[in-house]
Amino acid sequence: MKYDVVVIGSGPGGYVAAIRCAQLGLKTAIIERYNTFGGTCLNVGCIPSKALLDSSEHYHNAAHTFKTHGIELSNLKVNLEQMINRKNEVVKQTTDGITFLMKKNKIDTYYGHGSFVNKNTIKVAKADGTEQVIETAKTIIATGSKPASLPFIPLDKKRIITSTEALNLTEVPKHLILIGGGVIGLELGSVYARLGAKVTVVEYMNSIIPTMDKELGKQLQRSLKGLGFEFMLNHKVTGASVKGKEVTVTAENAKGEAVEFKGDYCLVAVGRTAYTENLGLENIGITVEERGKKIAVNDHLETVVPGIYAIGDVVRGAMLAHKAEEEGVYVAELIAGQKPHMNYNLIPGVVYTWPEVASVGKTEEELKEAGIKYKSGSFPFKASGRARASMDTDGLIKVLADAETDEILGVHMIGPRVADMIAEAVVAMEFRASAEDIGRICHAHPTYTESFKEAALAATANRALHI
Ligand code: FAD
Repeated sequence: MKYDVVVIGSGPGGYVAAIRCAQLGLKTAIIERYNTFGGTCLNVGCIPSKALLDSSEHYHNAAHTFKTHGIELSNLKVNLEQMINRKNEVVKQTTDGITFLMKKNKIDTYYGHGSFVNKNTIKVAKADGTEQVIETAKTIIATGSKPASLPFIPLDKKRIITSTEALNLTEVPKHLILIGGGVIGLELGSVYARLGAKVTVVEYMNSIIPTMDKELGKQLQRSLKGLGFEFMLNHKVTGASVKGKEVTVTAENAKGEAVEFKGDYCLVAVGRTAYTENLGLENIGITVEERGKKIAVNDHLETVVPGIYAIGDVVRGAMLAHKAEEEGVYVAELIAGQKPHMNYNLIPGVVYTWPEVASVGKTEEELKEAGIKYKSGSFPFKASGRARASMDTDGLIKVLADAETDEILGVHMIGPRVADMIAEAVVAMEFRASAEDIGRICHAHPTYTESFKEAALAATANRALHI
């Protein structure tokens, strides 16, 4: 078979790229090594983690806040097996949806491991041991990533686990030791903390979610402590071992002293590494970066080999599903001869803990480092009537605007439903709105979104109305 475009990998980068290529009239094929489409995001990432986050949040509310709402329950208990089954059903519906979309868009699908024979020839090694060779004019590599590990931590995937196993536990841990205070670890730690586990976070840096605005990390740490999290910051993990059902994690604290933590499970969540194994990159002259194993691309996401593009987790930048999707559309349109554009400054970052955390644009730390003069306005959810009504008063919204022009440069939120609310900030910034523009737009009352307007007013000559 000869294609205009072959996409290797069916995660959010790959399947979206394939759909857009097909929409633009290109004869397209997609190759996936697993027997379901959707990649990390749909199978073992975004979707299953959110399914478990929602279930565990329902349980937590039933156990802790219903009574205050005047709802009394007895014999409340967790049925983890059912929770995991529901999650699996959500994953199945979602991945089946991608299979449908491939068919609808007349994209040829190949199940097997794809690798380059040469620039225009790709071999698909199938699970039954057979091979198929396909020809293509252009290729999009969208092979994604896998959980990173530390060389001195023996992952047995039963007691010392990655995010993938954490989505399929058969019991609620009594004490989960979490190595890494990043997004994935805190989300999965939240699931089990809500179901009753003690969670100890052992983190090398001096803050959690270290790449986001520092104020968000501080606030989130406070909220998660309330949920039963314990934080061991400035701790360098040195090892982990399993004896029967007990896991021991050793670390060095800020004073250089050796300390140890004992629990029944250890989740290693120290980031993700690009996945390029057995892709045959050496056959076409592409090398991967030493650190992170990412494929180098130019500003048009093209590798050193003309006509071969790479997108998503396998290339530089945020390892996020929506970033991969945007890059998929970008490359498809580029191949079709259009002139697409991607604004990497406006890729929102979200943490689905409760309260949720969401950010877009520059952090205060970045603005200070760049010497940009800015104004800051914030509004706490405790001053929001909507948040009081739902008992979700933890958190705030902060708007950072250029000191002279008032253009919004960054928006940082922690609070109820901010994962959805950050979209308003992204739209505003895409259209280069000023803080005053947002302050002058009517927001429905009572909604959480009023807090964004109030924070924007606070950044506009301190004009917030409700604080
Ligand atoms: P992937 O989704 O990793 O897909 C790559 C695909 O390529 C895989 O299916 C793989 O099997 C296939 N493949 C690899 N090599 C070959 C080959 N040689 N031949 C054929 N097929 C191959 N991001 C968010 O934006 N929001 C979230 O809420 C979020 N939550 C997450 C929660 C967890 C627990 C995890 C682990 C990740 C989460 N992410 C989230 C990150 C998100 O999943 C990734 O950023 C996203 O999946 C990257 O998409 P991708 O298309 O680049 O690669």
